[in-house]
Amino acid sequence: MNILVLVKQVPDTNEVRIDPVTKTLVREGVPSIINPDDKNALEEAIRLREKNGGKVTVISMGPPQAEVALREALAMGADEAYLLTDRAFAGADTYATAKALSKAIEKFEYDIVFCGRQAIDGDTAQVGPQIAEQLNIPQVTYVRKVEVEDDGLKVERALEDGYEEIKVNTPVLLTAIKELNVPRYPSIKGIFNAYGKKEVKTITADDLDVDKNELGLKGSPTKVVATSTPNTERTGEIFTGNVKEAVQNLVDRLNKRHVI
Ligand SMILES: Cc1cc2nc3c(=O)[nH]c(=O)nc-3n(C[C@H](O)[C@H](O)[C@H](O)COP(=O)(O)OP(=O)(O)OC[C@H]3O[C@@H](n4cnc5c(N)ncnc54)[C@H](O)[C@@H]3O)c2cc1C
Repeated sequence: MNILVLVKQVPDTNEVRIDPVTKTLVREGVPSIINPDDKNALEEAIRLREKNGGKVTVISMGPPQAEVALREALAMGADEAYLLTDRAFAGADTYATAKALSKAIEKFEYDIVFCGRQAIDGDTAQVGPQIAEQLNIPQVTYVRKVEVEDDGLKVERALEDGYEEIKVNTPVLLTAIKELNVPRYPSIKGIFNAYGKKEVKTITADDLDVDKNELGLKGSPTKVVATSTPNTERTGEIFTGNVKEAVQNLVDRLNKRHVI
């Protein structure tokens, strides 16, 4: 079973703070990590390979420093790693990101394309489903369990109030959520291999069968025109009077703000 895992290098948003004076995001010193859901996808891919044989290939699109994320994926146990890196990919929205990644995926033999549900920086959860559309393969999102069956996969897809059991043929794209597993730590041997024996291969726009106008900023139907930091200052309010009135006031206020 050949599994392609898409990993994105993201800033650890748990470490991003808002400067109380300038009200802007403080990005300095914020470590880059593998997007958490992608680690769940990678862990599951490695487990499936351990059980059923095959190969796990990790693919990322990003600047040259995204290689670090791929080395970490190799240290966890991935067999091969590819980095899509090229100025032509820069400024991509989710559509152009999915275009570049799916054009790269077409170069591989695969049974499963495994993504995270969502990246903690862009937060759109669109890239996985868009890739499945571009590749014209079925997709199952929010995957919390995967089992291999003779003729395909049996997967559980989490819903707000339960789950769906879905049988699906391969090739298929799955997006992982954290309930799927607990990702392993890289072993010492894994780290040595990742920085010694194994290599991270590079894919540029010229390697893909696609017009460069369909990539990066040029190929993006959407543009971020402005970004701002939300005002997170809070003012407390105490409701006084008798308990019944105070509770009614609180409920009215919450209703008005569409909180309840
Ligand atoms: C309107 C808009 C405009 C944008 N403009 C720019 C811009 O000008 N410059 C810029 O740098 N970014 C830009 N971005 C951000 C960029 O599009 C996203 O970072 C990227 O498309 C991934 O989307 P996401 O982070 O929401 O990932 P999600 O869709 O939440 O990610 C889901 C999964 O897809 C996979 N995945 C996503 N991205 C990658 C990747 N790069 N490599 C490998 N796997 C991946 C991962 O498995 C991930 O868990 C823009 C985003 C939007 C919405």
